[in-house]
Amino acid sequence: MKERIETLISTSAIEKRMDELAEVINKDYAGEELYLVCVLKGGVFFMVELAKRITVPVTLNFMDVSSYGNGTESSGHIKILMDLDESIEGKNVLIVEDIVDSGRTLSHLVELLKSRKPKSLKLCTLLDKPERRVTEVEVHYTGFTIPDAFVVGYGLDYAQRYRNLNYIGVISFEEE
Ligand code: 5GP
Repeated sequence: MKERIETLISTSAIEKRMDELAEVINKDYAGEELYLVCVLKGGVFFMVELAKRITVPVTLNFMDVSSYGNGTESSGHIKILMDLDESIEGKNVLIVEDIVDSGRTLSHLVELLKSRKPKSLKLCTLLDKPERRVTEVEVHYTGFTIPDAFVVGYGLDYAQRYRNLNYIGVISFEEE
């Protein structure tokens, strides 16, 4: 099968949107400290670029949560592969995700982190596919709402590839 990638969101559109999101976040957290929790691996590119635009005091941490296998369909199976290495009690936690799809991963993660008593807990995602939602999850900051298609780039993979694309593309498969 040949893989074809068609641009859905350009690099410049992503950069412009991140400027806008950061402006809102900087206002919302004015006078506060912000603790970003990146969901590996897909959230890394977005988190790094967003963090560069944050002007309030910010610290970063990482979690690895599994939801998808090597295909394009959710397994519905959630597992914490790597946990935070410190307490989030009393902190203003902002989860940074690449995409919210069925919502299963995030709703699970939100419940887990809430139980650790942060001062506040919000969610920021680069992409949202609301049509695919199975589990309700409150998203506070959204980069782009996209249609139901499997996308790659800007941290998002297909079988671990294409994360390094600096744009978001829709992947399709053709017979060779
Ligand atoms: P959810 O639990 O919301 O269904 O899935 C969230 C996770 O599924 C994301 O963090 C991402 O890893 C993966 N995912 C969902 N939709 C897509 C997609 O269109 N492309 C890629 N590459 N991963 C996706």
